[in-house]
Amino acid sequence: MATDIKALRRDFPTLAQIVNGHPLVYLDNAATTQKPQLVLDALNHYYRDTNANVHRASHALSGQATRAFEQAREKVARFIHAPSAREIIWTRGTTEAINLVAFSLGRHFLQPGDEILLSTLEHHANIVPWQQAAAATGAVLKVIPLTDSAGLDLAAAERLINKRTKLLAVGHVSNALGQVNPVAELIAMAKTVGAVTMIDGAQAVGHFPVDMQALDCDFYAFSGHKMFAPTGIGVLYGKSEWLEKMPPWQTGGEMIETVSFTHTTFAAPPFKFEAGTPNIAGAIALGAAVDYLAAQDRAALMRYEDILLRQLVDGLSAMADIRVIGRPQAGAVSFVMNSVHPQDLATLLDMQGIAVRTGHHCAMPLMQALGLKNGTVRASLAFYNTDDDVAALLAGIDKARELL
Ligand code: PLP
Repeated sequence: MATDIKALRRDFPTLAQIVNGHPLVYLDNAATTQKPQLVLDALNHYYRDTNANVHRASHALSGQATRAFEQAREKVARFIHAPSAREIIWTRGTTEAINLVAFSLGRHFLQPGDEILLSTLEHHANIVPWQQAAAATGAVLKVIPLTDSAGLDLAAAERLINKRTKLLAVGHVSNALGQVNPVAELIAMAKTVGAVTMIDGAQAVGHFPVDMQALDCDFYAFSGHKMFAPTGIGVLYGKSEWLEKMPPWQTGGEMIETVSFTHTTFAAPPFKFEAGTPNIAGAIALGAAVDYLAAQDRAALMRYEDILLRQLVDGLSAMADIRVIGRPQAGAVSFVMNSVHPQDLATLLDMQGIAVRTGHHCAMPLMQALGLKNGTVRASLAFYNTDDDVAALLAGIDKARELL
């Protein structure tokens, strides 16, 4: 497997760099992943050879661009096993996808006293839009607490779900702690009271396959840039039955059927939710990232990533002055070093070419619940990382300790 990974790494030009005089050790994949050449080529090909606007196919280039754009939508539908490409809406990313649902569904279907259930582990992108929807409608936020090991407390969730619960919005994988949340169980619980279910999959899709028909959630959101595609493109999967009922959230060109100064009719989903010229190149390149992943043995990559994650957690846990937070299971490992500010440690790591992230990781309520006022250092993996990267981080921490 190690040789295969070395071969795969060559697909990612950014990884072969010297940073601050050292070979780059890229461990900030939860923030954004690197892009394979196939994705860079797809971007380049679109702009160089087929650049034209979509859905206005009165000329050849526009026809080509439209076909590539819509094929990418179909690839994404297959990638997440959605029943139909009509349930795939292009967005700028996870944040926009959640805002779309919070605005369109949240503000139009929630009533005063309705409850929106989130978890303590959420990224701000899955908190603030719901807070805004609650403020606009009189709905209230309820929050699933943490277990003693910083996991999502499923028993507490069961107690919190009641007939006032109208919407459940939780992350599939915690970006801050790398824990995989029991989303299947939560979705099943929410269904017993007829609540709408929305999963933030930003940190899941790059690490393991997700299946909309198996999960049976109403909405699922993710970002291209966290699964080896460009920034500025993402996906909202939504069940047709909801997309048909929901009003548009942004209006203008592309999302209409007919317009007069007295009346406008809207296009059918997904176009109803895609006002204006979309990120055509981004969508096509996301399709290329899907092709890239589909060509890999994902089960083998998952096993490999898991071994690497265990090595990282074991190595960190063996250091007397380091505390790993929670129980990392996918991608991210958060830790703190006794009496050392996370930012100081990260700066010393950066001087050695090691890229990690520090701070609250857009999860201030979680950091507050864990009493981590300065946040954590987060090292986050992708399948192109190696045991050399893990060893470099552990050695880098040893070196930083000498300098502190
Ligand atoms: N949700 C989670 C769990 C994330 O990790 C992130 C990004 O870090 C987001 C939402 C927001 O994603 P984006 O900034 O791509 O919209």
